[in-house]
Amino acid sequence: MSLKEPKIIDGKALSNELVQSLIPDIKTIIDEIGRPPALAVILVGEDSPSQIYVRNKINKTLEVGMISVEHRLSSETKEKSLLNLIVELNKNSEVDGILVQLPLPKHINEHSIIQAISPEKDVDGFNIINAGKLATGQSNLVPCTPLGCLLLLRHTLGDLTGLHAVIIGRSNIVGKPLAQLLLAENASVTIVHSKTKNISQITTQADILIAAVGQAELVKPDWIKPGACIIDVGINRIITAEKGKDKPQLVGDVNFSEVAQKAGFITPVPGGVGPMTISCLLRNTVVAAARRNGVEIKIK
Ligand code: NDP
Repeated sequence: MSLKEPKIIDGKALSNELVQSLIPDIKTIIDEIGRPPALAVILVGEDSPSQIYVRNKINKTLEVGMISVEHRLSSETKEKSLLNLIVELNKNSEVDGILVQLPLPKHINEHSIIQAISPEKDVDGFNIINAGKLATGQSNLVPCTPLGCLLLLRHTLGDLTGLHAVIIGRSNIVGKPLAQLLLAENASVTIVHSKTKNISQITTQADILIAAVGQAELVKPDWIKPGACIIDVGINRIITAEKGKDKPQLVGDVNFSEVAQKAGFITPVPGGVGPMTISCLLRNTVVAAARRNGVEIKIK
């Protein structure tokens, strides 16, 4: 089966649509408060994937006409200095969203940093207040990658009611919030993880299979039900003989070429969940700006 057939879910196209749909709301916010939504991005250290993610996030923010305030700190930065910066950004009325790029250097406690971000500016949705609101079905800022997965699923399958979704991975930033979102859509949700026995017996029951593991091409065709919808969150860098160690190849957690033969729908890596994550960050920044300033917008 050719990989160009329409069952490949085009995350780039949907992500562009989402970004375009934000433009009228950004205009409304500019009209009401005299400036566009503003996102502060903090990067600590020189981790090279993080540098790429931050650059992409900042470029997209600027492209859509929003403000991006960049804070690049050395890997030696003390936890206290980072906390002080967050307190300052929390107080700054010209900043609507604060994003701290993870992972942080080992001497900094990620949990303390995330909790220090004001929940109303927590555009990553990782703060315990936003996590609690998500778990209890209240309006909140939702983590970007799970929200991106949900939008891809709604776009591809429509109503998710009654479908069985299996999520591989139980992290606080992907697996758990995604389970909450899918439950709210009336899907039946199972989470599996590294301690689960006989994983493929569970994954082969899934109408929707989401892989958020961080292990290159872990999911093979015998893990899936024929016709299932496969969402691959994983981003893994592998060295190939072809490209050499200076140009690692990006692959997901799913063996794309083999699984695509059996799946009903599948996201590619790159070009699937990744672009949706960035668009959802922009969306959350617009939502945060509107809520903080009491502006009515279309996107909720
Ligand atoms: P974590 O390392 O925090 O979590 C990985 C999860 O996978 C854990 O729950 C772990 O289980 C589980 N796991 C590990 N090995 C296996 C296995 N062999 N079988 C079943 N489960 C296993 O990762 P994240 O959730 O942060 O990220 C997952 C992937 O998604 C990574 O590749 C990351 O780069 C990518 N990612 C992509 C984003 C995007 O925008 N596309 C955004 C965020 C992440 P246990 O809990 O038992 O250890």
